[in-house]
Amino acid sequence: MFKKILIANRGEIALRIQRACRELGIKAVMVYSEADRDAKYVKLAEEAVCIGPAQSALSYLNMPAIISAAEVTDAEAIHPGYGFLSENADFAERVEKSGFQFIGPTPESIRIMGDKVSAKQAMIKAGVPCVPGSEGELPDDPLQIRRIAKAVGYPVIIKAAGGGGGRGMRVVHTEAALINAVTMTKAEAGAAFGNPAVYLEKFLQNPRHIEIQILADKFKNVVYLGERDCSMQRRHQKILEEAPAPGIPRKLIERVGERCVAACKKIGYRGAGTFEFLYEDGEFYFIEMNTRVQVEHPVTEMITGVDIVKTQIMVAAGERLPFTQRQIQIRGHAIECRVNAEDPYKFTPSPGRVTMWHAPGGPGVRVDSHIYTNYYVPPNYDSMIGKIIVHGDTREQALARMRTALGETVVEGINTNIALHRELMVDAKFMLGGTNIHYLEEWLGQHKR
Ligand code: ADP
Repeated sequence: MFKKILIANRGEIALRIQRACRELGIKAVMVYSEADRDAKYVKLAEEAVCIGPAQSALSYLNMPAIISAAEVTDAEAIHPGYGFLSENADFAERVEKSGFQFIGPTPESIRIMGDKVSAKQAMIKAGVPCVPGSEGELPDDPLQIRRIAKAVGYPVIIKAAGGGGGRGMRVVHTEAALINAVTMTKAEAGAAFGNPAVYLEKFLQNPRHIEIQILADKFKNVVYLGERDCSMQRRHQKILEEAPAPGIPRKLIERVGERCVAACKKIGYRGAGTFEFLYEDGEFYFIEMNTRVQVEHPVTEMITGVDIVKTQIMVAAGERLPFTQRQIQIRGHAIECRVNAEDPYKFTPSPGRVTMWHAPGGPGVRVDSHIYTNYYVPPNYDSMIGKIIVHGDTREQALARMRTALGETVVEGINTNIALHRELMVDAKFMLGGTNIHYLEEWLGQHKR
């Protein structure tokens, strides 16, 4: 096992990984930007290195600074968390070339999955069901593009091969709008992701977003840890997640889970990963794979009892998965609410000083957050300041626990979206379960403030 790991991230996930290291008896080196000097995990750290100013480009995205920090502290491995450099194949490669273990898949796996066109091709080859669409990148010839779209059937969605974070997508309803949409998406993709390649997919009308968590070691042992339902989204960004997905037959989950496992074995995948699917009318359609730990991993931890972050570290150190598929049991129901520093209805960011923070507690309640009373939320990063996760024997009990937990939570000094979560937890349709990816935006439209 490693003796020392460098955590190349910030916020709640930096704290989450630090906690996993403590449990494993590993020393954790924290890195921080000047804006994060007062973060909880920096204060709790045995060792911490400032890697640059507030701007991410000069700190959390600064590869030489991070690798130097690992060198001067004698770390053996680097955990990238999520976001920032976590899905950057060049970073993974530089980490390994510099003699450190990258806690994640091989640079090659990251590269294949990071390009949505090659990811989809790999999945088709591995027998994972995909959304019908163009075979690969769209050609330049407008005639050919029209032919492809017609064969797939309108509406279609144009997606950037290098896209991420819900950006680089455009829905097209009619042939008249097609070529213009392709041209615009290509231009945006080139500017935003440095890769103008786009592809086309059937636009599913009312799908749910269901994803499968997997864990793999270096010996081709792979397990899936059930599914998560992440359909509650605004602008393609998840705001709350739950597991298991309400109303989907276990048989269907098992079938798609086994496909994901087979795909991982085929590509020699190692570490943690998530296969994201759209689910409509009893069918799963792969949309992308995330080659890292995800924000919503705790709901899976709550229903399986598996510590995903610890297991990531163990398999990176060359250990075997400590469980088999048969040992994975799903128990009860878990829900996670992402707490964002923003106006709950207008979504304008609300950084600043937290004058009062009171976290909820009680049976089945978990809080992953790096904030504390008098903490200053810097304006430079993502607005998520923590996550409230609950577990119950049933979905009803989990909902009740989340209502209680949200009721106990106090954040003063800044705005948060807790008020929105409180309303959603008593919304009749959400309480029934199985709402689709448009539900939250429709709900927001009907509840204009
Ligand atoms: P990103 O990497 O930017 O998150 P994804 O491919 O995961 O992009 O898609 C993000 C979201 O966009 C999905 O959760 C879904 O809401 C929507 N979406 C993507 N592809 C389709 C599609 N073919 N039909 C309908 N909605 C889609």
